[in-house]
Amino acid sequence: MVCSAHAIAQGLAEDGGLFMPQEFARLSMTEICAMRELPYGERAITVLSRFLTDFTDAELKECVTAAYGKDKFNGFPVPLRQVKNNVDVLELWHGPTSAFKDMALQILPLLLTKAVKKTGEQMKLVILVATSGDTGKAALAGFSDIPGTEVIVFYPEEGVSDIQKRQMITQQGQNVHVIAVKGNFDDAQTGVKELFGDKNLALELKEHNCSFSSANSINWGRLVPQMVYYFSAYADAVKAGRIKAGDLINFSVPTGNFGDILAGFFAKIMGLPVNKFICASNSNKVLTDFINTGTYDKRREFYKTISPSMDILVSSNLERLLYVETENNSGQVAQWMNQLNETGVYNVGKNLQSKILQDFFGTWVDEFETKETIGNVYRDEKYLMDPHTAVAWRAMEKYKLLTSDYTYCIVLSTASPFKFSNSVLEAIKPKEDFSNISTFSALNRLAEISGLTVPPQMAELENLPVLHEEVIEKTELESTVKKILGI
Ligand SMILES: *Cc1c(COP(=O)(O)O)cnc(C)c1O
Repeated sequence: MVCSAHAIAQGLAEDGGLFMPQEFARLSMTEICAMRELPYGERAITVLSRFLTDFTDAELKECVTAAYGKDKFNGFPVPLRQVKNNVDVLELWHGPTSAFKDMALQILPLLLTKAVKKTGEQMKLVILVATSGDTGKAALAGFSDIPGTEVIVFYPEEGVSDIQKRQMITQQGQNVHVIAVKGNFDDAQTGVKELFGDKNLALELKEHNCSFSSANSINWGRLVPQMVYYFSAYADAVKAGRIKAGDLINFSVPTGNFGDILAGFFAKIMGLPVNKFICASNSNKVLTDFINTGTYDKRREFYKTISPSMDILVSSNLERLLYVETENNSGQVAQWMNQLNETGVYNVGKNLQSKILQDFFGTWVDEFETKETIGNVYRDEKYLMDPHTAVAWRAMEKYKLLTSDYTYCIVLSTASPFKFSNSVLEAIKPKEDFSNISTFSALNRLAEISGLTVPPQMAELENLPVLHEEVIEKTELESTVKKILGI
């Protein structure tokens, strides 16, 4: 057993597995409802303190104040918008990079540097990140100029949006490195996983007083802050009179690596009254198939979609769900993960699959439906959403049609519509041709049409100098890291 500080500092366990808590604390309905009257930072401490038991309240307070304060989030960090009868949208993108990963990555560097001090390590932490777009920028923004850290981000050259790329390659900071990899997200992620698992490389790093750490969604320190907003949203739904305390509700979550939705499931284990989590995928529907058949099969075509942060064939955090559902049978889970590595497929059997179906509903949404949904919701509800959010919205509609379960549902909104302006424009003005419009004209055009303001940190991107231009082959990750660290 290791303490939470150690799990956060190290990222991945020695044997390549993921860290899990020994047990989940429970929050009572009284405690959940008490959040109604608290600012977000205090709501966060309620949850964080149950897991990060080796952090003092004063330390947690320092972290949440710096992470979720006014200079980072303009106003309440996670507003719940009433969009339609019985459907609300939880906007998770009011942070510095306009995507939901800020919710975890603004606080992770602060937890991490405190955690390292606790474990007594004097090493420089080398944060390695493989990104499908949003994680990269959020990690860069979170770690930029944090003493004792070096952050290296690998992104698939062709797998991120123009804005996402622009956000990363203009990142300032003495300790930040951004590198394009020829290949898709899974190539980048597999490469980074190999570096983490390389014992010889770890020794070499140690000789140079460095140690790898992860800011990817497999880091336990990312999941805990993500549980907070599920409780927060529930408390706000009660406060707004949308539900009564104790009512069961549904969440629809646009899913890629299975981190966001898993945090919700953990909140349920802690006592949040949830009926179903709708696991919404885009055309890369490996999770839909898994939930509906019990077979996880990554041997399939990889699609580049207009919701690129969900273009994933290996959902790393699913391993944690399997661990919980097998009642902590880590041997069995390791066996499946080995099968996945070696053959690209595993099957969990009917019993386990039906357990998963008690909590999750899996469905997927294609490119046409995604755009149609952005257009429909904008026209009918006057609400503008990005393609990731639209996938979750449409999945919620499919769920209702199929099950006739009309329970109050919260759709998680994971990115600002401005982050994907071109696709959003095409969706709300299908008769106009936007194929030649530049990214920045698209931002302004979207603002004009919708009457909304471009987030300032996105508007300024056009004039920031490009600081990172390196492109490498997928075989060159190790040599690149060594070069950066001077070893
Ligand atoms: C990362 C991301 C997702 C997927 O979240 P997971 O935790 O990987 O399932 C969805 N939408 C956006 C905008 C993201 O950045």
